Amino acid sequence: MKSWAAGLIVTGELVCDSCGRLMRHPERYGLVSEDNEPPKRLCADCSRAAGYLKARRDDKGHDIESYL
Ligand SMILES: [Zn+2]
Repeated sequence: MKSWAAGLIVTGELVCDSCGRLMRHPERYGLVSEDNEPPKRLCADCSRAAGYLKARRDDKGHDIESYL
């Protein structure tokens, strides 16, 4: 299994491939590929639900969310 995810910023408008929600700049979305399938665009909510967007603490002690 080969999966990857990248966090990107919406330029213009994009539709989430999971929930169909319209995303607009400057929302974040995840470009996610599972098992070498063509990448899907997931909104932040779907990325979070799928475990690609994770809350963590940066080295300054701020809570941030980042993609794997
Ligand atoms: Zn979504």
